[in-house]
Amino acid sequence: MSDENSVICSAKGCRDAAVWVLAWNNPKLHTPERRKTWLACDEHREHLSQFLGVRGFLKDVVPLAEWQRQEG
Ligand SMILES: [Zn+2]
Repeated sequence: MSDENSVICSAKGCRDAAVWVLAWNNPKLHTPERRKTWLACDEHREHLSQFLGVRGFLKDVVPLAEWQRQEG
C-alpha cells in the first residue's frame, strides 16, 4: 500500500488514483470481524458505496490516508 502507483480505484475500468477505502463484509462468506476492502477515487466512492450499501455489506468508508495510518 506504500507504493502510490499500485493504489488504483476498484471501479471497473477506472485507472484513477484511489483516495477512499471502503471496508465491507459479506456475512454469508465472512466472519463478522473480517473486512474486505475496495479502493475508490472521488468519482466512484458514491457508486461503490451504494453497491455495497444496498446489499448490507458496507461497514465503513475511510480516507485512504487515514486507513494507511491505522495500518501503521
Ligand atoms: Zn474510480
